[in-house]
Amino acid sequence: MPIYEFHCEDCGKNFESLVLIASAVNDLTCKHCNSSNIKKMISATSCQPAKGSPIPAGALSGCSSRSGFS
Ligand SMILES: [Zn+2]
Repeated sequence: MPIYEFHCEDCGKNFESLVLIASAVNDLTCKHCNSSNIKKMISATSCQPAKGSPIPAGALSGCSSRSGFS
């Protein structure tokens, strides 16, 4: 299921939402304050770099805050 995590620029909270169509992201609003000033974050699963990937962990937006190890 295409569940994405979003970050609200207004209240600073994160929330997850099921997005069935890519274009529907533009119509989403914050679940906490109903603001449309939100950013889609890279999901926890997709931000794990593949083995041997040149991209270091934490280099991707939305990953650094949740990686407590290095
Ligand atoms: Zn909000």
